[in-house]
Amino acid sequence: MTTDFLVIGGGIAGLSAGARLAELGRVTLLERETALGYHASGRSAALYEAQYGLPATIALNIASGDAHRNGGYLSPRGLMLVAGPDEGEAFRAEAAAMHLDPLDMNQATAMIPILNPATVGFAGYHEGAWDIDTDRMLQDCAKAIRAHGGQALTGQEVTAIRRTDNGWAVETPNGTHEARTLVNAAGAWADTVAQMAGVAPLGIVPHRRSMARLPAPGGHDLRAWPMLLGLNETWYAKPDAGKLLVSPAEEHAVEPHDAWADDMVLAEGLARYEAMVTEPVTRLETSWAGLRSFAPDRTLVLGLDPTAPGFVWCAGQGGYGFQTAPAAAQLLADLVGGRQPALDADVVRALTPDRLR
Ligand SMILES: Cc1cc2nc3c(=O)[nH]c(=O)nc-3n(C[C@H](O)[C@H](O)[C@H](O)COP(=O)(O)OP(=O)(O)OC[C@H]3O[C@@H](n4cnc5c(N)ncnc54)[C@H](O)[C@@H]3O)c2cc1C
Repeated sequence: MTTDFLVIGGGIAGLSAGARLAELGRVTLLERETALGYHASGRSAALYEAQYGLPATIALNIASGDAHRNGGYLSPRGLMLVAGPDEGEAFRAEAAAMHLDPLDMNQATAMIPILNPATVGFAGYHEGAWDIDTDRMLQDCAKAIRAHGGQALTGQEVTAIRRTDNGWAVETPNGTHEARTLVNAAGAWADTVAQMAGVAPLGIVPHRRSMARLPAPGGHDLRAWPMLLGLNETWYAKPDAGKLLVSPAEEHAVEPHDAWADDMVLAEGLARYEAMVTEPVTRLETSWAGLRSFAPDRTLVLGLDPTAPGFVWCAGQGGYGFQTAPAAAQLLADLVGGRQPALDADVVRALTPDRLR
C-alpha cells in the first residue's frame, strides 16, 4: 500500500506527529503491539512541568502549553520539592532553578499532612505543574489521523525497511507499505529502526524507570496533594486516582525491551520516600517500569536525517514525551512540510539530528 507518510511507533511521539502530518497528506502509522501506547506512553507519570528538562526541552514544554490547555488535557496538580535539614544549599539551588517559592513546615504539612517535620528541613512549591490526561491525548491523536483519511494500525511489527526510487518500503508480516517519507518514532527502538533502514544510529539509549502504586497513605484524601519530589530527583510521589504513585526515579541504561520494575531499586526508592513521611509503606498494589530514551545530549531529536532523504527522526523524548508532544509534532510537520518553524532557530538547531552527525 502506498501512502504519503509512514510512521513507525504508536506511542505519543508517533501519534502526535502523525496527527500533524495528516494535515499534509495520508498517514499510515504502524505499531507492533496490539494496543497504542503500550510501552513508555502507557507508563508515564503524566505530569506537565514546564521547567523540567534542558533548555530546548523547556522551549518545547512552553510552546506546548496552549495546545495542552486548549485541548483540556491539564488539571491542576502543583509541585513540592523537599530536602533534609542538612541539604539547604542544594535545596536552594534546585528550588531557584525550578522557580519554587519556599514554604515553612506549617505551610508544607497543610498541603501534605504526612510530611515528617523531623526529616524534612526544607520545602518549596509552585502551582505551575499539571496532570496530563495522557490516554485522551493518545486517543485524540489517533482520531485526528483517521479523520484525515489515515490509519493507526496495531499488531504491525516493522521487520524490514529498504529504500525505493521514491522513498521507503517497509515490511510487516501483513504486507508492504511504501511512502516518500518515513518517520522513526519507535521510542526505545529508534536506533534499531534506523539500522533496519541502513541509517546510522544516533546513540539513543533507553533508561528504565520503575513505579509503584500504593494505597492512600493513612487513608488520606490525596486529590489536592501536589506532586512531591525528592532533592536531585532521587524519588517522587504523585497522587493518582485516589492512590499514590511512588517512583525511585532511577535511570538505568538497558537494551530496548518490555520493561518491568526492579524490586531492589523499587525498595530503595520507597525507603527514600518513606524517610520523609510519617506513614510507613505497608503494601504495594502494583508496580511497573517504562523506558525513557535519551540521545547523548539528553535533548529530543526532531527532523530529517541529513544522510538519508525522507528519513525523519522523532525520538529521544526521554522523560518529556507528553509535555513536549504538541510543539514537537508541530515542528516536525513544519520541517517536513517546508514551512518556517514557529520555534526560535537556536531551539530548532538544538533539536535537529544534524547535531549528532
Ligand atoms: C516512569 C515514567 C514516567 C514518565 N513521566 C512523564 C511525565 O510525567 N511527563 C512526560 O511528559 N513524560 C513522562 N515520561 C516520558 C514519556 O512517557 C515518554 O517520553 C514517551 O512516552 C515516549 O513516547 P514514544 O512514542 O517515543 O515511545 P513509546 O511510547 O515507547 O512508543 C514507541 C512505540 O514504537 C513501537 N515500535 C518499536 N519498534 C517497532 C517496530 N519495529 N515496528 C512497529 N512498532 C515499533 C513500540 O512498540 C512502541 O509502542 C515518563 C516515562 C516513564 C517511563
